[in-house]
Amino acid sequence: MSSYSDKPKQRVIVLGAGVIGLTTALVLQRSGKYQVLIVSEFKVNPPSPSSNSTTIDGFEFHDPTTVPALEMASPYSGSHWRSLATNEDTDLQKKELFTYQTFMNLTGSDPSAPVKKIDGLDLYFRKNTNSNWHYKHVQQFRLLSPDELPKGIKEGASYKTLVINSPKYMVWLYDQYINAGGFFKQARVSRLRDLEDFESQFYNDGRNSSSYTSDLHIINCSALGSGKLTDVNDRLMHPVRGQVVLVYAPQVSRTVTRIGGKFMRYVIPRGDGTVILGGTHLAYDYNEKPDDETTAEILRETLELTPELVEHTSTMDPEARVAELQKKVLAVKVGFRPGRIGGVRLEHDKFYGKSGNLIKVIHNYGHNGFGIQSSWGYANAVYSMLQKSKL
Ligand SMILES: Cc1cc2nc3c(=O)[nH]c(=O)nc-3n(C[C@H](O)[C@H](O)[C@H](O)COP(=O)(O)OP(=O)(O)OC[C@H]3O[C@@H](n4cnc5c(N)ncnc54)[C@H](O)[C@@H]3O)c2cc1C
Repeated sequence: MSSYSDKPKQRVIVLGAGVIGLTTALVLQRSGKYQVLIVSEFKVNPPSPSSNSTTIDGFEFHDPTTVPALEMASPYSGSHWRSLATNEDTDLQKKELFTYQTFMNLTGSDPSAPVKKIDGLDLYFRKNTNSNWHYKHVQQFRLLSPDELPKGIKEGASYKTLVINSPKYMVWLYDQYINAGGFFKQARVSRLRDLEDFESQFYNDGRNSSSYTSDLHIINCSALGSGKLTDVNDRLMHPVRGQVVLVYAPQVSRTVTRIGGKFMRYVIPRGDGTVILGGTHLAYDYNEKPDDETTAEILRETLELTPELVEHTSTMDPEARVAELQKKVLAVKVGFRPGRIGGVRLEHDKFYGKSGNLIKVIHNYGHNGFGIQSSWGYANAVYSMLQKSKL
């Protein structure tokens, strides 16, 4: 009986090595039906132990987020699972829920994955009468009692959420993909058509034309890059700037998200003693430099939400407590979510390549502020689209 590995595989080139490209490539490669090659200008590498470090309370921090922010969002992400789908957006809901369940399974089955299941609190300035869709699906959901609510908060909920240490997770995903037999080529392309030039990469290790079927598929996971590729030129793409502060606070054990106000405020422990404090959400803002006033606001407001960010300071006045938190700052980062007017572009496309062959494309980009928490859902959607696609 022949197995998938004996059968000629379909060749797939994935453009982009952010969370969307890597997860999509991994799902396709693991299926055994495809040989995937990722082409990407940037990927996240493990931090070099010889790079500059910051030490706080004996914790040595080597910055893992060194990729240019406007080129790649994924390592700048918070990130935790808290749905951003509206109650009407059932499509995004399915993708997020699928990802929630996949992450939950990962926490039980693979301790090497930098994904952790912890308690999460959502806090609202106003009564959340139109209760969120995801509260029906998350584990251990309960409404908070009035005495659990911080000052100024009208309603709150607690449930099991997932925190994803995004730079480490990118490295983990890449390793999973390479271990599954995936190929990688570091390169920048100025148009999708140029990806055909990398076909020779499929013929290493004694592979020849009998190893593959004749067709070639491209999956475009280039996020903000889709606004610059000359044969995609998606004018709906735009950056959504987010500033976050990374602190060392190993005592923080749950996420807190305050919804409402000028910006969503959040506290996300990453499972290694570091905690992300956020954030801002500014569409069409290209400024890569952190803003000091914003940093001060984030520190002050997240400390109100999570007093345990600084220990043994309950007798101090609020300003002194913020100054204590300031001492725990490891880095201030600005990232750019790949925003798209109208939402994610997940659809088929095609063009005739330089060789005259028809090349099929699936676009999978524009995941704004929910790319990590929906990544497995979108990757599986691409897999289903490929399965149904006939040349
Ligand atoms: C501050 C902040 C907080 C966030 N918090 C969360 C959260 O809590 N939960 C959540 O789910 N999401 C969150 N996000 C959003 C999430 O980070 C993004 O949705 C996600 O990272 C997008 O992934 P991506 O793979 O589509 O894009 P990217 O990570 O930007 O990757 C794009 C890839 O394409 C490559 N590329 C592009 N153009 C070319 C080209 N021409 N040639 C070669 N390579 C190319 C790049 O090199 C890169 O590898 C947050 C984002 C920010 C900035």
